[in-house]
Amino acid sequence: MRLFLTDLDNTLVDRSDAFRRWACGFVAELGLPIEEVDNIEAIDAGGTIPRGELFATLVAHYGLLEPADVLRARYRQEFPRSVRCFPGVKAALAKLQSSGWTVAVVTNGDDAQLEKLSAAGLHALVSRCCASDLVGSAKPDSAIFYAAAERCGLDLVGGWMVGDDPVKDIAGATGLGLDTAWLSHGRSWPTELLPPTIAASSFSDAVDRILRRNQLAG
Ligand SMILES: [Mg+2]
Repeated sequence: MRLFLTDLDNTLVDRSDAFRRWACGFVAELGLPIEEVDNIEAIDAGGTIPRGELFATLVAHYGLLEPADVLRARYRQEFPRSVRCFPGVKAALAKLQSSGWTVAVVTNGDDAQLEKLSAAGLHALVSRCCASDLVGSAKPDSAIFYAAAERCGLDLVGGWMVGDDPVKDIAGATGLGLDTAWLSHGRSWPTELLPPTIAASSFSDAVDRILRRNQLAG
């Protein structure tokens, strides 16, 4: 058994698309111009700002009457259920399972991450899901990677980490004995960082190449 760690947002599931769809619904509900979707996406910063801050900013910026915590609670209930996986992800995870890999998701966030995994229909295709708020350590810290390996009963050495974030996913895993696959999504690799083992165009591309390398090595 070998360990296969993977990020969730914008790696297995299309978080950007789900957020854009949510923002479109939000501006429609408030009667705001559709152009405001771009502004809301900018405030969201790829989901990296705390949700309380996001809704406090939206309430202040648009002079909304509904309190931020009410909007946030509704978002918390609706958003995780709206995410979908990228094409080819289910087949790729099934291929990993049948090839003897143990797959664990390593993701920054709270229990909403587990709901996203279920909503995308991926729950049965992964062995473990380690969300930073529940583990008590967030990527790029090494503790969350070690926690994932321990929960799978496997070593990090010889395993892989796949993700779209150069720092949190790839730099975090580099140096822990893992090989890394970076999903570029059309971006260039930041030259100040040590490069990943491979750069891939999608999760399924990364899996195909990792399995091929593994066959050649084996
Ligand atoms: Mg990500």
